Amino acid sequence: MGRVPIGGGAPIVVQSMTNTDTADAAATVRQVADLWRAGSELVRITVNTPEAAAQVAHIRERLDALGCDVPLVGDFHFNGHKLLTQHPDCARALAKYRINPGNVGKGAQRDERFATLIEVALRHDAAVRIGVNWGSLDPELLARVMDENAGRPAPLAAAEVMREALIASALESAAQAQALGLAAERIVISCKVSAVQDLIAVYRELAHRCDYALHLGLTEAGMGSKGIVASSAAMAVLLQEGIGDTIRVSLTPEPGGDRTREVVVAQELLQTMGLRSFTPMVAACPGCGRTTSTYFQELAERIQGYLRAQMPHWRERYPGVEEMRVAVMGCVVNGPGESKHADIGISLPGTNEYPVAPVYIDGEKTVTLKGERIAEAFQELVEDYVRKNYAPGAARRREPRAIPIKAVS
Ligand code: SF4
Repeated sequence: MGRVPIGGGAPIVVQSMTNTDTADAAATVRQVADLWRAGSELVRITVNTPEAAAQVAHIRERLDALGCDVPLVGDFHFNGHKLLTQHPDCARALAKYRINPGNVGKGAQRDERFATLIEVALRHDAAVRIGVNWGSLDPELLARVMDENAGRPAPLAAAEVMREALIASALESAAQAQALGLAAERIVISCKVSAVQDLIAVYRELAHRCDYALHLGLTEAGMGSKGIVASSAAMAVLLQEGIGDTIRVSLTPEPGGDRTREVVVAQELLQTMGLRSFTPMVAACPGCGRTTSTYFQELAERIQGYLRAQMPHWRERYPGVEEMRVAVMGCVVNGPGESKHADIGISLPGTNEYPVAPVYIDGEKTVTLKGERIAEAFQELVEDYVRKNYAPGAARRREPRAIPIKAVS
């Protein structure tokens, strides 16, 4: 199992979660491996039953046999104390345990179970995420925070009380874990809510009040563009302020949809913000009345798909290639200009333009493509550019820029 540094200035980690039944080891191994190949650096799996816990070590072994060393995080609610003590192989195979303080138990029983979870983590050198969620907030703690609020001269509004309860739950549990011997560096905190402004307010406050590593994510973000926009809007504000050490984009997949989409979106969020680079990105214009076909859109999609598919091989062979910028543009208005800003770009002909496509490499027009094979020829030029510029020992002609993608018209 690999190790991933979290917090303390380490690069922001992309995390994802399976939606398979963990008791179905074959399906879970397949999905973890898919998420890892897509770029997930930590994968969380549900551990909810003895049958699931019994499979975790097998899942780890089968992933290792595939060469997939992605660390696994076990997601525990209600019965984690039992599963982790009754299945030591499971406890050993997991790099991190996610504990939801709202789902551990009540009163003295809660403290006892929480202590058991931390003792197991210490025994197996596992990290712990104290993962609070507003949908399962500890009711006793919420009642206490509400009582305290009622006694204030100027009571807080209900939304502020809820936010305070989330933060208190996370920080009190983290302090309890530390008192039981878990080092602060082994603790990650998350306080997930489903509204953008609440998430921003909660994490700003958390970052102000503690030094623990923070896992960011909007819970129940939703499907499709709504989920992507809401997650990006919330996390971009926080990431820009330097808040967040691991991220997950919690998208509800469409039926039969690809689970790896949440990994791609998380990577694109970090890359478009200039925080990390994962894969060369294609700048493409939106198209307008100057284009009469979808050819440039198809070419942009084809090139982006091709680049993403190459990355598992290119990552080792061509260091730095993830920062390459490619442009696919629809007409002469912004095509040449945007292509010149990219490392390699093509400006396709718009309506009534002469049917040729100039290619720009490192800002210089180098060749003009025409005919039926423009897409294939451009892909060959991209491959050639990668070989010449990113093979070990190759002299890059231009330094990568801080912001790898430029806004287009
Ligand atoms: S470059 Fe601008 S003007 Fe030309 S097709 Fe694209 S969106 Fe339209």
